[in-house]
Amino acid sequence: MISTTKSSGDSQGPRIVRIEITPVHVPFREFVRQTMEESAGGLGMAIPAEEKWQGGDFVICRLFAEDGSVGLGEAFVWLPETGISPGQIIDVTEHALSRYVLGESPFNIKHINYRMDVNVARNEVPKGMIDIACYDLMGKISGRSASDFMGGAAVSEVPLAAMVPLMDLDKMVAFAEGFCRDGIRTLRVKLGRSVPEDVRIMESIRGALGDAVRLRVDYNQAYTPDQAVHAIKGIEPFGIDLAEQPVRATDFLGMSYVQKRVNTPLMSHEGCFSLTDIVTLIELGAIGVVGINAERPGGVTNALWAIDYAEEHGLGCVIHNQSLGIGSAMQIQLAAAKHSSLGHDTDLFGHVMMEDDLITDEIDYRGGKATVPSGPGWGVALDEEALDRYATGKTVIVEG
Ligand SMILES: [Mg+2]
Repeated sequence: MISTTKSSGDSQGPRIVRIEITPVHVPFREFVRQTMEESAGGLGMAIPAEEKWQGGDFVICRLFAEDGSVGLGEAFVWLPETGISPGQIIDVTEHALSRYVLGESPFNIKHINYRMDVNVARNEVPKGMIDIACYDLMGKISGRSASDFMGGAAVSEVPLAAMVPLMDLDKMVAFAEGFCRDGIRTLRVKLGRSVPEDVRIMESIRGALGDAVRLRVDYNQAYTPDQAVHAIKGIEPFGIDLAEQPVRATDFLGMSYVQKRVNTPLMSHEGCFSLTDIVTLIELGAIGVVGINAERPGGVTNALWAIDYAEEHGLGCVIHNQSLGIGSAMQIQLAAAKHSSLGHDTDLFGHVMMEDDLITDEIDYRGGKATVPSGPGWGVALDEEALDRYATGKTVIVEG
């Protein structure tokens, strides 16, 4: 039997000798907090969570190589969606995943993922956070952009979508028009309070913006399968690129039921965590577009696999999340490398929502596009002062 679980030693580059993991909470900008306060359920969407959403929880991961290089990773946490807390991410990283990472070269990323997967089931979010940090570390060690390890950046600017929260109709139209004045050409509109209201919203936004703007909608699990069919058919006359998570996150069969009865491609978000989820949803005929978050379905390695799998099956992909700077830079690099495979604009809105992005560099989001950061790895550096300011607990250090 071939031994595959030993660490790979130093034959492929400097080994990882230290892991630092820090929980942070970054409040939303004041105007976002006010908007949320006035919006559906204090959340800007139809998801039935009890707590108002006023900021973002994250875990920042730093991997140190023996040559002194540092790789940055980030995990986004929102319990109604991710189901895993910052404390759980830190615990499983410190006490379980770290032993399959320390002593490895980041260039052996497939082997690191294999060892994490065979020794620790599930946990796509912390595994994804580590995988993201490994790609940055490869770039830092070699002096190359991390996108060079994804096939190379095909474009220098990534077109962005923007999100319109679920609020009063006139405010939603004003938000949509404001984004388009800034150069945005794709909008994701939050729906799901009722089918007649959904129709009024989409009719008004399409009427205000005309046909040059692409529209997608996000129901955040608001409807039963039958209601979802009715709801999506009601807005199809307004030209909808895709409909995100119309039914409960875990209801894959419900998604399939809806997808077979509407022309608009569906996308799973809250219900999509692993490669198995993606394959199952595609094979069930339950989705027409694959959603990729930064750390889901397990970092860069699994995202590349999922995007290729989707393309082979004739599906497009949306890269999307409300990340801090590290996660946004990673998604911009990924979108640049896979530009020709996606078919949909990338949906990043952490820079719109969060009062700080925890990086020292400015990512250029002007004109409805994100400029791909230059420099090694993700092309961004951690703002250590901001990390201290927003940390909600001590930095956990694991060495080996
Ligand atoms: Mg969503």
